[in-house]
Amino acid sequence: MSSQPIYALRRAEVFDSLETAPEGLTQTEAAARLELYGRNALAEPPQPPAWKKWLRAVSHPAALLLWGMGALTLLGGKPSLAVVIWGVVLINGTFSFAREYWAGRSISRLKDLLPQHARVLRDGQDRMIPTEELAPGDVLSLAEGDRVPADARVVEEFGLRINQAALTGESLPVHKSAEASLRADLAEIERSNLIFAGTSVLNGTCRAVVFNTGMLTEFGRIANLTQAVREAPSGLQQEMTRLSRVLTIIALGIGAIVLLAAQTDVGLPFQEALLLAAGIVIAVIPEGLHPTLTITLAVGAQRLAQHGVWVKRFSTLETLGNTSVVCTDKSGTLTQNQMTVRKLWVARRVFTVSGVGYAPEGKIRPEKFEPTQPSDTHADLQSFLTAGVLCNNARLCSPSANETRWTSLGDQTEVALLTLGLKGGLVDVQGVYPRIHELPFDAQRKRMSTIHRCDGQEVAFVKGAPKEVLQLCSHILINNQVAALTPALREEILQKNDSFSRQSMRVLALARRMLPVGERPYLTEKIERELVFLGLAAMMDPPRPEVAAAMEAFRSAGIRVIIITGDYGLTAESLARRVGMIHEETPRIITGVELDEMSEADLQATFAHEVIFARMAPDHKLRVVAALQAQGETVAVIGDGVNDVPALRKADIGVAMGQTGTDVAREAADVVLTGDNFALLTQAIQEGRAVYDNLRKFITYIFASNVPELLPFLLTAVFHLPFALTVLQILVIDLGTDLFPALALGMEKPEPDILTRQPRKGGMTLIDRSLLIRSIGWLGVCEALLCYFGLGWVFGGGANSFLGDNIFTHFIRSGLPAEGGAPLAASLFLGGVVFAQIGNAFACRSERGHLRWLGLFSNPILLGAVAIEGLLIVAMIQLPPLARELGLAPLPLALWGWLILYAPILYGVERTRKNIFRWLRQKGIVK
Ligand code: ATP
Repeated sequence: MSSQPIYALRRAEVFDSLETAPEGLTQTEAAARLELYGRNALAEPPQPPAWKKWLRAVSHPAALLLWGMGALTLLGGKPSLAVVIWGVVLINGTFSFAREYWAGRSISRLKDLLPQHARVLRDGQDRMIPTEELAPGDVLSLAEGDRVPADARVVEEFGLRINQAALTGESLPVHKSAEASLRADLAEIERSNLIFAGTSVLNGTCRAVVFNTGMLTEFGRIANLTQAVREAPSGLQQEMTRLSRVLTIIALGIGAIVLLAAQTDVGLPFQEALLLAAGIVIAVIPEGLHPTLTITLAVGAQRLAQHGVWVKRFSTLETLGNTSVVCTDKSGTLTQNQMTVRKLWVARRVFTVSGVGYAPEGKIRPEKFEPTQPSDTHADLQSFLTAGVLCNNARLCSPSANETRWTSLGDQTEVALLTLGLKGGLVDVQGVYPRIHELPFDAQRKRMSTIHRCDGQEVAFVKGAPKEVLQLCSHILINNQVAALTPALREEILQKNDSFSRQSMRVLALARRMLPVGERPYLTEKIERELVFLGLAAMMDPPRPEVAAAMEAFRSAGIRVIIITGDYGLTAESLARRVGMIHEETPRIITGVELDEMSEADLQATFAHEVIFARMAPDHKLRVVAALQAQGETVAVIGDGVNDVPALRKADIGVAMGQTGTDVAREAADVVLTGDNFALLTQAIQEGRAVYDNLRKFITYIFASNVPELLPFLLTAVFHLPFALTVLQILVIDLGTDLFPALALGMEKPEPDILTRQPRKGGMTLIDRSLLIRSIGWLGVCEALLCYFGLGWVFGGGANSFLGDNIFTHFIRSGLPAEGGAPLAASLFLGGVVFAQIGNAFACRSERGHLRWLGLFSNPILLGAVAIEGLLIVAMIQLPPLARELGLAPLPLALWGWLILYAPILYGVERTRKNIFRWLRQKGIVK
């Protein structure tokens, strides 16, 4: 081993120093080193201790208020009540702590679902291995869009530019080279021949030898700092926090007024007035709001993960629910990214290629028999195929003992050209024409070039988008002769390009140039000019089978889908038509060049019609997304390449494919479709919408019970009626019986029609007028009326015939309950609220629909929760010690029968209202 630092060594010494070879490590050696150095993974960042998290859960503002209320009741001479209030804060806090903990764990488990792979040489063979299995000495192959998986020394590169922002914060790309770096005054990170884990390849390709893995990498060393970055609270979380704050202030306000009124107007003693005010404050604060938000989001994310949608942050779900436009690229997203060359245009003749997939089984045949000299066409074809195989970074692997099929590594466009070469009978062209340089592909140029040596001469092969390549050509190869490229020939080529594209095929052009001696350094402008045109290859990339149905789903959900592709307009249009995205006769196709000329207003105007954005460079994609956002749209962008990254970041929701996508796209995205299934995005949007729905259901449910809880207090305060629920009894409802059904409502499945509703522009408001009117003004008032009616009916004597003559009726006959009757009245009222809430829970399962439509058993957790709710209230009223503690008294059986009726009554009343409103909506009287 050399004692010099790795960056100061020359190429050959690098291998020696790391005891490896240009062919990479052997499998056995790699396994031994993995054992020695450990897996190439970062250790989990230290978490704040659990007790700190728990402390936070029991000390948020609403909890602090309850702590204060407890203290007040203690001062008011009710120590047992104080203990109960504090107990409730602790239980509630512990509950929300457990939820958060569980949610956090499920997110970190989800990360494991996403495979990260690295391309390495092992035993001289190109292989994809899990990133974790990299060991020092492994020889990496990296290309555009790859994330650097470990710290490595570059030994070969072509146009390599690295984005080191993750380590240095500097977003400008840095050139890297394979030369030794000998300057003394540079930090490792500044060395031009070292690349580091966590950074990514912006352009170019390279081979590099791993020298540090896992926690020994530069990234590992600063990982703790990077991972400590806290996620900003989402819109929904902010709204919830605001809501809790507003409610707490309202509660305190009402409490203060009641305290004042009770003391001055009604003349209650201070202690009693204080307890009354405390009760009101507690009744108004919705204690379960935070745990429900977390659980709703966690359940949604979990459900999506089961289907292969990985949501990086819970908050993403809510934005998904608001999505109104989806911008998608084409290759690999709408299509399968399994390219097969179907047609060729070489030397003015069309050839058909048979066979599908990677296997080189198939023939290249001229489309029509023409009596030309076959040998010459053969030579043209061979030149064309050779260019396709040489100007290529992919690998095609023949079947082996482990893998019975042909497999591939690298860009699918290039793999298709390798298969084509084999079908055309080419063998070992790379050996005959060794590569000496590469001008890598970039989405801006839309082409790439490689330079090779043959028979002492240097030749450049160029491959890329037809129009872009054609404009650099001055000649064409026909009958093995280089001829001038006349305008007529150019026109013929462009027409052929369009005709292939109209059949949804991706078309690439190939060209070459014999380089004069002394062309170095190989600069794009010097190499890519005066080319000899060799021909066109048209490849089929079939649409993903699920795309057409997904388009239909998007349309009925009112979500617009727009293609923004780097590919040619006609190819995109033809595909868009096939999958049912485009219906207008002549959709507008805007190219990158046209977009550059357009004003912002013109661009905005194009969205009024069906439009396709083609030949887009990364900054164009960004501009389109920004223009849509300026119109108030919530934009989701789906992309898989480096060229999509800026748009993915700019989007409200960035979506990447888990398997075909590049590492950087996955990193930039908020959502990863692990199964590469495009249709899953509709499912994700559905879940996102369900999160809002469920929170609204939950809030409607808990707000409603505040009315019968509060009304007795207000009546007592204003009219000095002797009857009111005690503070303890209110807590029984808010934090005891109500909590389980409320949480269960947070787990409701998306409603069947959720994807036929229109997205709400500018996002949804969680609590709006209609929610407040329905919950407080209607459901709550119905509950209160029902409870008061029951109370009046029983105590007014109306229930005598129904109850028979027993002690209770005897007591009832003596008029309104005074001293001894209060516990019985409280039981009747409290039981009434709880059973009305059971009916309410079912009514809240949908804002507009009925149970039959949702299915009674589709949320079994709610059924369980309602059963617990019923059992709890029965136990609290019927078990004498419990009842005594809570200020309640057991009820006769017949009255239980009466109370149970409250559930169907409340549900029925709400159902009738829904029916009336549906009718009014149908008639267009209300919206
Ligand atoms: P999308 O943006 O929908 O994924 P795309 O893959 O065609 O489409 P880019 O990757 O930006 O988008 O490619 C733009 C164009 O560059 C392609 O249409 C093709 O003509 C050309 N091209 C793509 N890959 C290569 C390659 N490996 N070598 C040469 N040219 C390429």
